[in-house]
Amino acid sequence: MLDHSRSKDLYAKAVNVMPGGVNSPVRAFRSVGGNPIFFQSAKGAWLTDVDGNRYIDYVGSWGPMILGHSHPTVIQSLWKESRMATSFGAPAEVEIELAEKVIEMVPSIEMVRMVNSGTEATMSAIRLARGYTGRQKVIKFAGCYHGHGDSFLIQAGSGATTLGVPNSPGVPPSIAADTLLADFNDSESVARLVREHPQDIAALIVEPVAGNMGLVLPEDGFLQALRRMTEESGIVLIFDEVMTGFRVAPGGAQSVYDVAPDLTTLGKIIGGGLPVGAYGGKREIMEHVAPAGPVYQAGTLSGNPLAMRAGLETLRLISEPGFYENLEAKSAKLDAGIKANLEKLDMPLYTSRIGSMLCLFFTREPVLDYEGAKRCDTEQYAAYFQEMLQRGVYLAPAQFEAAFLSAAHGDEEIEQTIAANYEALKAVRDR
Ligand SMILES: *Cc1c(COP(=O)(O)O)cnc(C)c1O
Repeated sequence: MLDHSRSKDLYAKAVNVMPGGVNSPVRAFRSVGGNPIFFQSAKGAWLTDVDGNRYIDYVGSWGPMILGHSHPTVIQSLWKESRMATSFGAPAEVEIELAEKVIEMVPSIEMVRMVNSGTEATMSAIRLARGYTGRQKVIKFAGCYHGHGDSFLIQAGSGATTLGVPNSPGVPPSIAADTLLADFNDSESVARLVREHPQDIAALIVEPVAGNMGLVLPEDGFLQALRRMTEESGIVLIFDEVMTGFRVAPGGAQSVYDVAPDLTTLGKIIGGGLPVGAYGGKREIMEHVAPAGPVYQAGTLSGNPLAMRAGLETLRLISEPGFYENLEAKSAKLDAGIKANLEKLDMPLYTSRIGSMLCLFFTREPVLDYEGAKRCDTEQYAAYFQEMLQRGVYLAPAQFEAAFLSAAHGDEEIEQTIAANYEALKAVRDR
C-alpha cells in the first residue's frame, strides 16, 4: 500500500477550515471513498503527492493540461509576464492576441469576451441569449454540466415531467421553472419542448460531446437536428465547449461534427492551467454585451495578463502541425490496450472515446444518455479507481468523468497504464 500519511494529516486540517476540506466537491473522493490526495508538484504526465508518491495523471486538472503539466514554454512566458505586472484592470495587448487566436481557431466565433471560469462563461451566455431574444426559458439536457449557475443545476424530473426540479437547495424554484429538460441524443424530446413553448425559449445549451456523464458522443444527426430546430424557432444555440474546446480538435466539437452554434462557451484549455473562461459567437449577438450593448457583464480580473499569456502560449503550442495527430495516436493506443484487456478478462464493459478523451463505463450496455450513464456500477468504479491509484495511475475520483491524455503522455506511460488497467480490472472482477 502507498503511504498517504501526510495527505491524511492535511485532510484532517482542511476539513476544519474548508467545507468538506476542499474548494470543489468532487476532489473530496466522496464517490470513491478514502482520503483525498494532496499534491505537491506536477511535470509532464506525472503528479507527485505530498508523501512523495508519483502517479501518471489522467485528470489533467479536469481538462486544461493538454500539453502536460508545467510545460517549459508556458512557464517561461508566465515568468516573463509576471515581471511586467500581475493585473491592470485595464486593457493590455495580450487580450487582443488571445481573442484573435480563439477567433482564428474557432470559426463560428466572431467576437469573444474573456471571463474567469467556465461557470461564468455559461451564466453570461445565457443572460446574453435572454437579453438578445427577450425570452426567458432555456433548454438543457439531463446529465450535461454547465457549471454551478442556478439555471443549470437542474436534472431530470420524474416520469413525464419536463419541468426542471432544482438539483441543489438554494436554487429558487422560479429559476428552475425556466429551465426545460431534454434528453441527450433524443431530438424529439427537444421538438416537444419547442412545440409546447413556441415563443418563450431564449436558448438551448448543450455539450456537443457530453463529458460530464462519463463520455457520451452525439449520435449521427443529433447536433444537426438541434441546429435546424433552433434556427427555425429563433432560439440561440449555445455549444458549451468548456471541456471539448481545443480538446477534441483545434476548432472544438463543432468542427468535428460540422455544426456552427450561435454562441460558444470556452474554459479549461483556454487558460492553459490558469483561470480563464470565455464566451463568443456571432457578432450580431455579441454586440449586445456591455459596453457595446445593454447586456451587463463585467469582471475585475477578466483578461488578466498572466492568465491570457498562459492561454495564448498553450493555444500556440497546440496549433503546431501534427499536434492533434500525435495525441490521437497515443489515445488510440491506450484505448486499444484497455479494450484488449477487457476482452482477455472477459469483461465486456462499454468504452467511449473521442480524440484524447476516454471513458470506461462499468456497464455492458452502450451509454447514449444520462439514463444509460446512471446504469453504471459506481461501486465497481470506486474499486477500480482505488486499484489504479495503488498502481500509480491517477484517474478522476468519480465514474461520470472522462479521462484526458496530454501530449506529455509517452509510450512508456501508456504501456504502464495498460498494464495497471489489466491488474486493476482483474482485481475488481475477482473481488
Ligand atoms: C468544467 C465545465 C464547466 C464549468 O467550468 P468551471 O471552470 O469549472 O466553472 C462548464 N461546462 C462544461 C462542459 C464543463 O466541462
